[in-house]
Amino acid sequence: MKTSIIGYPRIGELRELKFASEKYFRGEIGAEDLEKTAKAIRSRNLELQVKAGLDFIPSNDFSFYDGVLDTAFLLGAVPERYTALGLSELDTYFAAARGYQGEKGDVKALAMKKWYNTNYHYMVPEIDDSTELKLVGTKPFELFSEALAEGVRTKPVIIGAYTFLKLARYTGKRTAEDFIDAAAGAYIDLLKKLAQLGAEWVQFDEPSLVKDLTDEDISLFVSLYKKILTDKHGVKVIAQTYFGDVRDCYKELCSLDFDGIGLDFIDGKKSLELVKANDFPKGKVLFAGVVNGKNIWRNNYRLTADIINELKNNADDIVLNTSCSLLHVPCTLSNETKLPESVRKHFAYAEEKLSELAELRKIFEADDPASTEGFKRNAELHSGRRTERNAAVQTKVASLTEKDFVRLPAFAERERIQKERFKLPLFPTTTIGSFPQTAEVKANRSAFRKGELSEAEYERFTEQKIAECIALQEEIGLDVLVHGEFERNDMVEYFGECLDGFIFTEKAWVQSYGTRCVKPPVIWGDISRAKPMTVRWSSYAQSLTDKPVKGMLTGPVTILNWSFPREDISLKESAFQIALAIREEVLDLEANGIKIIQVDEAALREKLPLRKSDWREDYLDWAIPAFRYVHSGVRPETQIHTHMCYSEFADIIRDIDAMDADVITFEASRSDLTILDVLKENNFRTEVGPGVYDIHSPRVPSREEIKTALSRMLGRIEKNKLWVNPDCGLKTRGIEETVPSLKNLVGAAKEVRNENS
Ligand code: GLN
Ligand code: ZN
Repeated sequence: MKTSIIGYPRIGELRELKFASEKYFRGEIGAEDLEKTAKAIRSRNLELQVKAGLDFIPSNDFSFYDGVLDTAFLLGAVPERYTALGLSELDTYFAAARGYQGEKGDVKALAMKKWYNTNYHYMVPEIDDSTELKLVGTKPFELFSEALAEGVRTKPVIIGAYTFLKLARYTGKRTAEDFIDAAAGAYIDLLKKLAQLGAEWVQFDEPSLVKDLTDEDISLFVSLYKKILTDKHGVKVIAQTYFGDVRDCYKELCSLDFDGIGLDFIDGKKSLELVKANDFPKGKVLFAGVVNGKNIWRNNYRLTADIINELKNNADDIVLNTSCSLLHVPCTLSNETKLPESVRKHFAYAEEKLSELAELRKIFEADDPASTEGFKRNAELHSGRRTERNAAVQTKVASLTEKDFVRLPAFAERERIQKERFKLPLFPTTTIGSFPQTAEVKANRSAFRKGELSEAEYERFTEQKIAECIALQEEIGLDVLVHGEFERNDMVEYFGECLDGFIFTEKAWVQSYGTRCVKPPVIWGDISRAKPMTVRWSSYAQSLTDKPVKGMLTGPVTILNWSFPREDISLKESAFQIALAIREEVLDLEANGIKIIQVDEAALREKLPLRKSDWREDYLDWAIPAFRYVHSGVRPETQIHTHMCYSEFADIIRDIDAMDADVITFEASRSDLTILDVLKENNFRTEVGPGVYDIHSPRVPSREEIKTALSRMLGRIEKNKLWVNPDCGLKTRGIEETVPSLKNLVGAAKEVRNENS
């Protein structure tokens, strides 16, 4: 039995690529230095995989920003506004990724979207009527040859033609179907070139196949691959799926001329059933995704063995594989110096997953797998309870009833009471919460963590930052203020640290988008709140001003979705446990004079099942109530805000309204504004602040630009329901661009206010 992985983290064990890229963006290093760092990461990854004895080692899983963007550049799907800047190839690429504002022009970045149900984000390729898809890039070839020169014949991985065409946005009249011939031609050329270079296997990633497929989708997929696979030039091709099962196209997938098929047996609820019911084509290799690429727990060999044993009845050539790319887990446990052995032994990051694959291979090669040392040790690890249970929390969750999820009085009455109380101007201005995390802010937090700063010194510093932030917002003229979140490293980690039941890592960074990484906490046991978490900072901020300062919390669904969840209890159970704790904090803030409380559900959509048929039962039926429970106990005059990143929620718009917040802010500036039509069509009740500018990019929006955005919004949103704000928190931005951007925002709101009153 052989072993394989779908991809490896590329950010570097200590986020070397992130830091080098950011230096490059700031002009502190040149392209050569950046490339040197990249190359070092690639060879390190290669070395680890060789050492682990991995049989199929991926290449081209490296990316400077994002793999879908790489594919767009590979296939020549690059909008002219980027190529027209006349920048170097690398800078053109970064312009598409991050936007460009400089002497050569001013362009926004491509849209960015969530990668299926993960917290990774990809850049959305844009295809217009004049786009000619053809093989123009060279990265897969260079990276294949680079590894070959180091003695390793890798398996190049490329986003497959179907998934690429499905992810792209078509700005003209032509649609995916119109690009079948061109795309197929480009992929044929790709195979040919890889064959010439000596590739034996190529992996095409086709995660889009696990979604609900229409007949047109299936025929697009089949047409593409009938063409592409007619002449493989001797290269063996794997169709790699992940994040679910391929129930809508299993038969087509099996009947096409692929040499290997990759299925996900972790997230794919029906994968095993599909293989058993329909058999697996003879002579093809089944890449069986049995090692979870999304979570950090050690594999349970007994469960894996059960799957493999069943598969053996139908498939004669099985390769042990991860369920998806290891991009979604941290690099290595070896940099975790503080985890006690009792915890560490339950964890497996990317590097440890490589050794799990190696160990599993050994186990399955034995005559009696269950009698091997490795198997027994693993069984021992998974026996018994890992942690004490919290009976009080479990009982409380079990006793929640319908009325616990209902806030009274109803929305309209609260809206009236709150308008009366706050007397805010038309189009109130606010921000999403965080202010720039300057080097100084980060240095202080880290000095405190290291014990170089006393608690009193740290608190004095934080208070000073809050005071500056309040003063700045008053000077800019914002209506509803925030304290700036200077005490927070991250919106989830911060709460995890204050709550019981979480475990923290030092270096478990996972790429979220581009150079941005997150370090998800681990839900280890039952969750409870030991003490108030934010009251101190919020009350201090509120004491400095007469304007309302929003209390700022992260919601239960987001905390859950941005953590590594337990596998021994349901997500629902964990969500309710967290909701209990956040509700206590909400009530504490209210009792301490905070009049507006924002509960961020930035990641609400994150774990929405990829298939609509699973949405309610598997997710929304507990996720929305968990949020409602958090605020159902506040007084009518307390205003509850929520915030969501990415406005891709047209299809769950009623559920969002049913969260029953008083105000919601969300990202809108990067995506087209169709979401506004959806709000209108659905008579969206909650007041809304669609982001008027993109905070993911350093460019400063002009006042005119913001006015234009606002007037488009006004066409669709009642004027007394519209809020004005950036599309997300400002923590990743510099203060230089933040101040002028917010001044333009307030200026634009004032002008529009004048025109409308
Ligand atoms: N309140 C958070 C902030 O402003 C929200 C962040 C987010 O939505 N990702 O940073
Ligand atoms: Zn956000």
